[in-house]
Amino acid sequence: MLSEFSNEPLTDFTKPENKAAMEAALATVRAEFGREYPVVIGGERITGLATYESINPSHKSQLLGRFNKATKQHVEHALDAAWKAFESWKRQPVDVRAGLLVKTADLMRQRKHEFSATMVYEVGKTWPEADADTAEAIDFLEFYAREAYRWGGEQPITKIATEDNALVYVPLGVGGVIPPWNFPLAIMAGMTSAGVVTGNCIVMKPSSDAPWIAYRFFALLEEAGMPPGVVNFLSGSGAEVGDPLVMSPRLRFISFTGSKEVGLHINEEAAKTQPGQLWIKRVVAEMGGKDAIIVDRDYKNLDEAAAAVVASAFGFQGQKCSACSRLIVDDAIYDKFVPMVVEKTKAIRIGPPEEGSSQFGPVVNASALKKIKEYIDKGKGEGKLLAGGEVRDAEGFYVEPTVIADVAPDATISQEEIFGPVLAVTRAKDFDDALRIANNTQFGLTGAVFTDDESKLDRAREEFFVGNLYLNRKCTGALVGVHPFGGFNMSGTDSKAGGRDYLGLFLQAKAISRKKAVAPQPAGVGE
Ligand code: NAD
Repeated sequence: MLSEFSNEPLTDFTKPENKAAMEAALATVRAEFGREYPVVIGGERITGLATYESINPSHKSQLLGRFNKATKQHVEHALDAAWKAFESWKRQPVDVRAGLLVKTADLMRQRKHEFSATMVYEVGKTWPEADADTAEAIDFLEFYAREAYRWGGEQPITKIATEDNALVYVPLGVGGVIPPWNFPLAIMAGMTSAGVVTGNCIVMKPSSDAPWIAYRFFALLEEAGMPPGVVNFLSGSGAEVGDPLVMSPRLRFISFTGSKEVGLHINEEAAKTQPGQLWIKRVVAEMGGKDAIIVDRDYKNLDEAAAAVVASAFGFQGQKCSACSRLIVDDAIYDKFVPMVVEKTKAIRIGPPEEGSSQFGPVVNASALKKIKEYIDKGKGEGKLLAGGEVRDAEGFYVEPTVIADVAPDATISQEEIFGPVLAVTRAKDFDDALRIANNTQFGLTGAVFTDDESKLDRAREEFFVGNLYLNRKCTGALVGVHPFGGFNMSGTDSKAGGRDYLGLFLQAKAISRKKAVAPQPAGVGE
């Protein structure tokens, strides 16, 4: 029996022993720079294909690894291997499948800082951000292992006298897992492990910006005893691997997290029935956000609110689906509060994240930098630049934390997901106006309200239309089990990752009904 779930503690890097452990892990991982990694299908390692490079966004000339590029043909082979493995994996008892996750979590815990160090180098996470990503991955493994017992156990059903009835949950089959690069360990591991623990087999296509951390996780699953073919590792591009995978009639489900554009494309392609297809593909798509924090005139601790806004807007360089990209401030405190946010923004220490003192690293790649800069330039015409605004791209892909004030609610930078360190600030006439502005995008992922007025908090509970609403706290940092995560509207299918509904998305229910034998009537009765 597993103990009750609790979240993995975060590391306190002010303690010298933790700092030393992280520095040692960074050195270990640095010694692995430049290796080549295979595509893995049915346990077989495939190399000799065209390759692509994973590079360090803080030092763009630094090669981290070369990854073999899978093609359409490998997608077919991976589907063969996964369906073959499914025949035995689906029959494994929950103990075996949940045991794989718990063992993987155990191993990851032992090498926690190596996983974090890999993300420091590969996507530019600062130490605390990388540590939180690794802790979340461990949480997903531990949480879904426990959830598998609940879904695999006896289900409540109404009893009748004439039949024995049961409802059991069975796996769907073979699914595709398509993760983003921004939580390249936690989200990738969460989607993969949820698929596997429910008895499905997986073809996993990591993000091209973060294949190294995905490979490290895949190898850990193997080390923990995962049979060949249960997860297949197909590094490669969205077009060459993702599209054929999504379109295959042999794929039963897709678990996607990423942008709205790619999510909608996948949803559309998956909806087209292909010749020979036996099912309607199930698509779980968690997509972008344009998340707002409202700061109301009735909130006393403005300094705390300003710190929460800055943490939400600029943690991991604003590259979180949950990041605060819109700050909506009540007119009565606007002129006092906005300078507090600007001051804290200007105090952020920018630097290469392998240095533990850095609070803010690069954005993920050159095209992200270019896109964010275009939004900043547009934003300068839509409001008043109060902080940041420049890029520093000599060594890495750095964009300064940027605050643009006096932005209209319908401006481009108020409406489109920028996915970088850009905060648009809007003045609201009052709380009604603030709620209206908060709800006026096509997204609905996270949101936060700061007020000491209970009736306004109640109104936010009722009217702020987001999947994850936070009251008097920041709008990032959802914890597995504590804050099941997923958004409304164009933010996705509201799958609530890390919640009790999640494993149901990888299962289908079968009702089994057996008529009870009728007891023979004693002779002579009724005559
Ligand atoms: P993306 O949409 O560019 O890519 C996501 C994944 O899809 C990658 O693995 C990519 O290779 C793959 N892909 C691209 N084209 C494809 C195609 N044609 N067919 C199949 N797969 C394809 O997103 P990203 O830049 O990796 O991640 C950032 C986005 O993810 C942001 O919009 C962010 O808000 C969102 N996100 C959402 C959540 C959430 O829970 N809602 C969490 C994290 C990130």
